[in-house]
Amino acid sequence: FTNIIYGRINAYVTSNIIYDIKTLLFKSMQKLSINFYLNKQTGNLMTRVSGDTDNIQEFFHDGIPELFTNVVIIIIVVITMFIQNTLLTIISLSTTPILLIVSLKIFPIIKKKYTSMYISRSLLNSLVNDVLMGFRVVKAFGKEKEEIGRFSKSSSYVKKLEYNLAKFTNLIFQSMNILMISSSIIIWGFGGWQVINGQMEFGMLITFTGYVALINRPLIYMVQTTNWWSNAMNSAGRIFEILDSLPDVIEKKNPIVKRKFDGLIEFKNINFSYEANKNILHNINMIIEPGEVIGIVGRSGAGKSTIANLLMRMYDTTKGEIRIDGVNIKNYAFKCLNKNIGMVMQDVYLFTGSIYENIAYAKPSSSMEEIINAAKAAFAHDFILKLPYGYDTVIGKNAQSLSGGEKQRLSIARTILHNPKILILDEATSSVDTKTEKQIQKAIDILVSGRTVISIAHRLSTLNNADRIFVIEKGRIIEFGTHRELMGIKGEFYEMYIKQKKALELGGVIYT
Ligand code: ADP
Repeated sequence: FTNIIYGRINAYVTSNIIYDIKTLLFKSMQKLSINFYLNKQTGNLMTRVSGDTDNIQEFFHDGIPELFTNVVIIIIVVITMFIQNTLLTIISLSTTPILLIVSLKIFPIIKKKYTSMYISRSLLNSLVNDVLMGFRVVKAFGKEKEEIGRFSKSSSYVKKLEYNLAKFTNLIFQSMNILMISSSIIIWGFGGWQVINGQMEFGMLITFTGYVALINRPLIYMVQTTNWWSNAMNSAGRIFEILDSLPDVIEKKNPIVKRKFDGLIEFKNINFSYEANKNILHNINMIIEPGEVIGIVGRSGAGKSTIANLLMRMYDTTKGEIRIDGVNIKNYAFKCLNKNIGMVMQDVYLFTGSIYENIAYAKPSSSMEEIINAAKAAFAHDFILKLPYGYDTVIGKNAQSLSGGEKQRLSIARTILHNPKILILDEATSSVDTKTEKQIQKAIDILVSGRTVISIAHRLSTLNNADRIFVIEKGRIIEFGTHRELMGIKGEFYEMYIKQKKALELGGVIYT
């Protein structure tokens, strides 16, 4: 009966502890800045949320209660032994210090072995994750065999480490066993000799061997717990590494919450580097008026996306400040920046769920009517209705069944619903063909009205309607002005424009 109660309490406590740890871990991960994710492999992070918490769960569920019972048994039995026969107790426990010293020595070795096993397991997870995410590339290049080879190599390495660890722990535990059995032999030898000489009663000897048998099992268990303990502590260490990490970008205490921005953006002497001593942006100065549409152009790697990242506070500037409506963005609450700044990106990320849920992601409280209106404004309504279950059609993580243009229009619908005052278009049309680009452009034209827009464009033709264009080269603004002005000065923009025009004309596209 008490076992039933114990089992229930244990199950309740353990599952709650694990739930708390997982929630805390996930919350901490969400708080961390983008840099944290860029530096970690997804497989590794997944192992932390599931594998590591499972290790701790096991320890809480089976390890700690047994540990407690066994410690109590050992203490009571040893005290009883001492009361009955001190000399025989000392002899019986003569092997225990060796046991403890060996356990302490072995503990770091096992811990190290667990760490290497963990690293190789998470590398294996990352490999599987990579291949699953990139399966199109694997198929396209016919690399299935190579990938199987890579997997087998990594998997067999994990197997080797697991086997070595099991061999090692087995050897240790069996040696400990022998040590404990030898303590029984010593008692039989010494006690037997005393019984023969009439110095001890036979009953006392039998009682003592019984006591030793009683504490042997808990002692073996305690030694095995070192193994468990190492594993759980390793996992706890990795969990705390995340819980204790501080985000690079921190929200100010008592931040300003402004419901709706006017949309005035100022970049003042912005310098920025991702890594120390490698400046990516140099003295960027821009003032963007509310409702203005500006374009940012430049070669790949010039720093265009970095400017957008800084405005969204994915990173903080190294020097200089960005102001929105005259206030440094560091003073605004995160939720206020998120609410007022929206982004349409080149790679659209859609979550597993229905089309409806994916559009409503920006504003879960939206009514069906609002969602349909947003989809209509994004020219997505018609293709959504053609899907088997319309707005209820479930799309996978990568929405394989949708074309690039369709995904893009869904993301535009999402942004229309989000309704931010400041909009960043990060090469939103560069991954689609020119026909789709025209459709998306129409949707974007609706999206941009009434907002301050920063459009990072690859195709310069998409910037025909921009009020002003900034040309960035190696992190510096080298030209700015209207389309006409930039064409007039015949500088970098002019050259890029002419080159693109020629390239597209060669491909049979009329450039307007
Ligand atoms: P663009 O958008 O103009 O193509 P980016 O702003 O993405 O250029 O990148 C500018 C430079 O910053 C590039 O040299 C790029 O390699 C570097 N960079 C971008 N992101 C990171 C990062 N997370 N860590 C380190 N360097 C980065």
